[in-house]
Amino acid sequence: MPRSKPPAVSRAYRCQCGRPIFLRNTQCVNCGSQLGYDIERLTMVALRPGAAPELWHRVADATAASSGGDDNYWCCINRQSASACNWLIKANPQLASPVQPQRMICLSCSLTRGMFDITKARNQHYWRQLEGAKRRLLSQLLALRLPVQPKSESDDGVVFDMLEVTADGKPVMTGHHNGVITLNVAEADDVHRETIRASMHEPYRTLLGHFRHEIGHYYWDRLVRDEPARLADFRALFGDERQDYAKALERHYRQGPPVDWPVHYLTSYASTHPWEDWAETWAHYLHITDTIDTAASFGIDANQADTESEPFDARFLWRPDLSTAGDFLNLLNDWVRLTQVMNELTRSMGQTDCYPFVLPYRVVGKLQFIHEIVLSQRLRHEAPDAALDALPA
Ligand SMILES: [Zn+2]
Ligand SMILES: [Zn+2]
Ligand SMILES: [Zn+2]
Repeated sequence: MPRSKPPAVSRAYRCQCGRPIFLRNTQCVNCGSQLGYDIERLTMVALRPGAAPELWHRVADATAASSGGDDNYWCCINRQSASACNWLIKANPQLASPVQPQRMICLSCSLTRGMFDITKARNQHYWRQLEGAKRRLLSQLLALRLPVQPKSESDDGVVFDMLEVTADGKPVMTGHHNGVITLNVAEADDVHRETIRASMHEPYRTLLGHFRHEIGHYYWDRLVRDEPARLADFRALFGDERQDYAKALERHYRQGPPVDWPVHYLTSYASTHPWEDWAETWAHYLHITDTIDTAASFGIDANQADTESEPFDARFLWRPDLSTAGDFLNLLNDWVRLTQVMNELTRSMGQTDCYPFVLPYRVVGKLQFIHEIVLSQRLRHEAPDAALDALPA
C-alpha cells in the first residue's frame, strides 16, 4: 500500500538541538534556545543573540540545507506580552541602528486593529487564546500561498477587530465585511462559547473555526466575486448568492434548517445562504488540509487505517476531468480514514468526537472547487507566468 503523500507544509518542527518543538513555543525546554516563527521559511527557528541589541540570528540546525547565513530577525513587540507572540520580523543588520526594535510588530499582530481592554486580567487570557488561533490560521494561509495583506497597506487586504461588549451593551457580532473580520472576544471564554454551542445544537465551535469561517467570506470577495467564470461555477455548486441575505438569516433563525440539510451541507448553518455554505465549506477545507498535513508531518499514515465506509469516487467530483482530481480524491479518502481513527482516540479519552461531522457526498464537489482555487493561488505564487494556462477552463 503506498504511503500518504508528504505534507504540503510541515507542521513538525525541530530545535537546533534536535528536540521536537511546536508552533506556539518561544523557548526550547531542552537547550534553552529562544524560538520563533519565520513566515518566509514557514517554520520554527532557533535563535541566538545577533550583532546588535535586540537583533537575533538563526542558529543553523544539523538538518537544514543551508547555514544560518544572513537570517537576522527582530522579535515581535508582543513576544513578552500576554499574547506571547513568537513570530519574527526579518531584519537587515545594516539597518540595525536606525530602527527601534521595541516598535517591531509581526505580520500577524499588525493585522489586529480594534482591540479590547487587555489591562483586565481575564482579557489577557482571552487575548492569548485569540491571537494563538489567529497565528495558526495565518501560518496555514501563508503556507497555502493565499494572499495575506494588511488592509492598512492595500484596499484588498484584511484586518481583524477583536471587540468586547462595552458598558452600554452594544452587541458585537462576529462576522466579515469588506476585509474587516470582527471577533467577539467573549468567544474566547470557554463557558460562553460552550453555552452557545449547546444552545444552538452545534457539533463544533472553536476560535480557530471562527477564524477559518470568517476568512472564507474574505476570500470569496477576493477570489470568486470578481471572476465571472468562477462566480458561475460557484452559483452552480452553492446556489445564487444574490438572494436576500438578511431574509435568509431571519428565516433560518425563525424556522430552523430544512430537515434534509445533512444530505446537502456540512452544517445546518451552511443551509442559510450560499455565502454561509461557502464559508462553512471553506473552513472545513482548512480543517482537513491542516490536520492531514499535521498527521503526515508526524509520520501518521492514513492509508494504514482500516476504513468502514465506501471511499468517495469520481462520480461525486465537480470536475473529474482535472489532472488534480485523483490527488484530491486521495486527500479526501485519507481524511475520512484519519477522522475515524481520531474519533476513536478521543473517545478512548472520554472526550467528544474530535471530528463531529459527516461528510455528505454532495459536498465533495464544493470542496474540490475550493481545492482548485487554493491550488491556482499556489501555482500563481510559484510560477506566475504559467498559472493562467493551468487554471481550469
Ligand atoms: Zn533546543
Ligand atoms: Zn506578533
Ligand atoms: Zn458567515
